[in-house]
Amino acid sequence: MPRDSFNREIDYLRISVIDNCNLRCVYCMPLEGLRFLPREELLTPAEIELVVRAAVSVGFRKFRLTGGEPTLRADLLEIVERLAAVPGLGDLALTTNALLLPKLAMPLKAAGLKRINVHLDSLNPLTVERQMRWGSFARVWEGIMAAEAAGLVPIKLNAVVAAGYNEEDVVDLAALTIARDWHVRFIELMPLGGGECATLSIKRYVSNIETRRRIEVALGPLMEFESSNPSDEARNYRLPGASGVVGFISPVSEPYCGTCNRMRLTADGKFHLCLLNDDEMDVRKAIRTGGGMEAVARILVRAVELKPTGHHLLEGRSTRDRSMYQIGG
Ligand code: SAM
Ligand code: SF4
Repeated sequence: MPRDSFNREIDYLRISVIDNCNLRCVYCMPLEGLRFLPREELLTPAEIELVVRAAVSVGFRKFRLTGGEPTLRADLLEIVERLAAVPGLGDLALTTNALLLPKLAMPLKAAGLKRINVHLDSLNPLTVERQMRWGSFARVWEGIMAAEAAGLVPIKLNAVVAAGYNEEDVVDLAALTIARDWHVRFIELMPLGGGECATLSIKRYVSNIETRRRIEVALGPLMEFESSNPSDEARNYRLPGASGVVGFISPVSEPYCGTCNRMRLTADGKFHLCLLNDDEMDVRKAIRTGGGMEAVARILVRAVELKPTGHHLLEGRSTRDRSMYQIGG
């Protein structure tokens, strides 16, 4: 398994397959001024497979498809099929807003996808419309139900908490875990890309200390338990008598750089060394100028060696060149 210069074992690759999205969450994508990658700049299914084969050859085991909204890729099923067939690949998951899952959940499962994380910020339809824009709670919910029926489990929900939007709604979201064996995770806002979404992310930031307090006041004490995965970015808890898990992902109030195990691949084929930094290494160029699996593996090992640690979120700084929808979260 590759280790970086801080002795962290890096075995998890998050693959962004597209930068476009069918939602416009207030902290992620502005309504105007966006330009998306033309199709020829996106890695093809065969190129993504090549990167994954190279990653497996150097010890990567876990893979996640993300975006933008990955379900907007017309060839998503081909991508999943190709990756699921790579010998030695361990976990293959997808992060999505679930809008297209009613149609896609079953075919994705059949193609070899193991599980999904769904992004949903509230159970209140009015909050969803205001915060995630363009979508609706009913459609996301339908997508979650389709995923569960297809066996893409355990269902994990991700909610980004923003002051003046959904900070009151965290209680209802956490309460979902009482009867359901789902994981509901609360994510602190991070300012990426330097534009209006970054500004909003600083202004509307809510600490998970506050979110946890709000949940405990309403639903009782949260009991911590060990995750089976030491590099899980969430701190996990259970409500009294609950079947599911409440998790807190707190990059700002409780940074977890020390246990980071991930590398990122952008939709235009760059290894992005850390979510909160701008450093990248071009792998698409190597592939398109004739480089095969060994060349890709060499670039990946170098990218791991150069992976930085630490961030400047507390000073309100992170990436300037890329936004969240361009890196994949
Ligand atoms: N569209 C999919 C989705 O929303 O799950 C996948 C891509 S999205 C960029 C991945 C994750 O990034 C989502 O869980 C979303 O909530 C999170 N995210 C986006 N902008 C964020 C921000 N400013 N701070 C923290 N998390 C953010
Ligand atoms: Fe789209 Fe996901 Fe960004 Fe929301 S967080 S705008 S669903 S990419």
